[in-house]
Amino acid sequence: MDKINRKIKTLQETWHRAFADASFEQYPVLVGGMEMVVLYGQFSAQKLDVVPPEVCPFETLNSENLIHEYDDILTDYALLPNRYPFMPYHFVLPHRKHISMQENNQLKSDLEQMMAFSKATDMVVFHNSPGAGASIPQHEHWQALGTKPPLLSLAVSWQDGIGWLPDYPGANVVANDTHQALAVTNDPLFKEHNTILYHDTIILVPRKAARSQYLQRRVAGAEIMGFIPWKKHEDALKMKERPEELLKGFKEVLYRRDAV
Ligand SMILES: [Zn+2]
Repeated sequence: MDKINRKIKTLQETWHRAFADASFEQYPVLVGGMEMVVLYGQFSAQKLDVVPPEVCPFETLNSENLIHEYDDILTDYALLPNRYPFMPYHFVLPHRKHISMQENNQLKSDLEQMMAFSKATDMVVFHNSPGAGASIPQHEHWQALGTKPPLLSLAVSWQDGIGWLPDYPGANVVANDTHQALAVTNDPLFKEHNTILYHDTIILVPRKAARSQYLQRRVAGAEIMGFIPWKKHEDALKMKERPEELLKGFKEVLYRRDAV
């Protein structure tokens, strides 16, 4: 086995050790012509560390789950299984220092590290900015998935090096250069956004914090990748049976493309 595959195997084994009893279900749905997947994950809650509310959750991480195979690439980030996975090989990459998302001014270097990590592992990396789904904005962190979201299979329409996804129901910008991506995030519309990164492709989607009545507890931006994680099994089944409500939810809370 070559070195790259051995490193990836260690990554996957660490995840399985952390979530040996986890089970995941996926339901494909067609939402406004776009193929999406409703996800439901179940795992043993007692495996999770109990973190007092005043403590940053990333300060009490179980060190046995830390993965060091990519320390040379992730110079500013740690890597370990996500505590709340919505699919197998869902990882979290917290900054090695307790630095908030608002304080972090090294986004170019972060994007470069994440692109290198994506290329080394073939994983999709993503980031929810403050106000756009970040559950712990007080500590900078990215997330990674071992499965490519359906969004990445959409065709990109390019013009002058910047692209967009014509078949995605909300506003978005695609860049294949960190300078372009950073220029986009300086736009007030993209202040609150999700970043989806795969190899050299960076997709940015502005996202409202508002919640749709159709999406209930979820913010529509959580669904941007074509994966729709649901916390309760019955809710996941409901979304599978009534995908038209997802489209209504998108229209209600995603920025319109013509606003870009
Ligand atoms: Zn912290």
